[in-house]
Amino acid sequence: MTAYDDLRARIAECHDLFCILNMLKWDMRAMMPAAGAASRGAQLATLSKLAKSIFISDETARLLDAAEAEIESADPDSYKARALRQTRDAYEIQRRIPAGLVGRMAALGPESEAVWARAKDENDFAAFKPYLQQMLALNIELAEAIGYADHPFDALIRQFEPGMTAAQLEVIFAELKARILPLLQRIVAADAPLPLDLWEAEYDLATQKSLCLEMAALIGFDFERGRLDSAPHPFEISFTRDDVRITTRYDANYLPMSLFAALHEAGHGLYEQNIAPELTRTALTADFLGQYAVGGASFGAHEFSSRLWENQIGRSREFWRLHFGRAQALFPEQLAAADAELFYRAVNRARPSLIRVEADEVTYNLHIMLRAEIEMALLEGAIAVDDLPEFWNAKMQDYLGLAPPDDRRGVLQDVHWSFGGFGNFPCYTIGNIMAAQALAAAQAQMPDLAARLAAGDYQTLLAWLTENFYRHGRAYGTDELLTRATGEGLNTAPLLDYLEGKYTDLYDLN
Ligand code: ZN
Repeated sequence: MTAYDDLRARIAECHDLFCILNMLKWDMRAMMPAAGAASRGAQLATLSKLAKSIFISDETARLLDAAEAEIESADPDSYKARALRQTRDAYEIQRRIPAGLVGRMAALGPESEAVWARAKDENDFAAFKPYLQQMLALNIELAEAIGYADHPFDALIRQFEPGMTAAQLEVIFAELKARILPLLQRIVAADAPLPLDLWEAEYDLATQKSLCLEMAALIGFDFERGRLDSAPHPFEISFTRDDVRITTRYDANYLPMSLFAALHEAGHGLYEQNIAPELTRTALTADFLGQYAVGGASFGAHEFSSRLWENQIGRSREFWRLHFGRAQALFPEQLAAADAELFYRAVNRARPSLIRVEADEVTYNLHIMLRAEIEMALLEGAIAVDDLPEFWNAKMQDYLGLAPPDDRRGVLQDVHWSFGGFGNFPCYTIGNIMAAQALAAAQAQMPDLAARLAAGDYQTLLAWLTENFYRHGRAYGTDELLTRATGEGLNTAPLLDYLEGKYTDLYDLN
């Protein structure tokens, strides 16, 4: 045995613990009765402490030193060298984060989340305010512990999207706003109700599930190595590439909710199911900071896969030209008077709305920018928690031309801040940008791809994504991965071109 092998065996044990943590989280969000929350919190805390103590132990440090000396001459581009560098990075950061701080965040989390849920129901920002103030203070402490050069946001986003900074995001956001805001104005001016409201009818939930299963399988999700359940907040989580769980939620009066959540989560699942088997139980499928077993390069990279399959494939005209017949066969009465074109238009209607999770492709990134800009301002101390509702409402007016009638549909709508998840929101936008870049590159490299997709061949695209993205697990950072696959780093132009092209056609804006 070499030192590298010994380290690898130790990392594999951490990985197993992360998988068990994932399993407990899946159960908590999809199966567990509400009363189980307190004891589940304790179980998660115990297991997470155990995993961290193994990871930051002196023995891990000794093995890391020895393994680094041992593979000094190895190709720096090899998986082995990359796994070692990532383990070292994560080890140094984890050592800098005081156990007490993690404990205080973990202890405050469940109560803060419960207070938030009640405050949201009762439209009572004042009740949530003291918890948000504490969570903000803890996040500032966390940012100081992780360390940063320019902005505390840089430290926090490092947990989700290593390499991204507040300064880079400002440039990205400015580019997006410059073209999305005028596009949205033109859409609003042209918007008219569709001739038929498809969502007035009732859609049987069991039949909705059949459609979700069928569509997820169609794009390549392997149900021999995964399953679909329901959850109030849909998510994907995996234990290894051979056991990938996806969830969706159902509304009898709104078929797109279950359908597109299923396609979205299946898109996450395709990433995990197509990671190279040799990366299982290694550092290249482990997020040591978040203590997740996860194979995607970053949160943004994971969103790239889910958004590509949900939006660019699942919400395309070609997709429904081909598959509307199946939806109609399952819902013959509800969809009797509809056709593929109407269905396509009904699942792509764009308009300013108050709620992020219900937003369309055009407005979605505006909701994200608003949140990220608020987080940056809070962390800088440019605004106080007291100013939050007013600041939120002013930005909603600027970006979407809407005045939230209450905080429930404004600043209180998202759960993220209640458990201290600062720095996470921009990953959704990064994913959208990457998805457009990836599909544009795939089309440029395979001139017949559009024809294949239009004929229902999703395997060709899946194979290309596997070869260029999925199989590498966490071996590359977002920018490096993108550059290798598409020839350039993060670039907003393909997303903006895609949105302008699609919506100019949909709303006849020329
Ligand atoms: Zn997602």
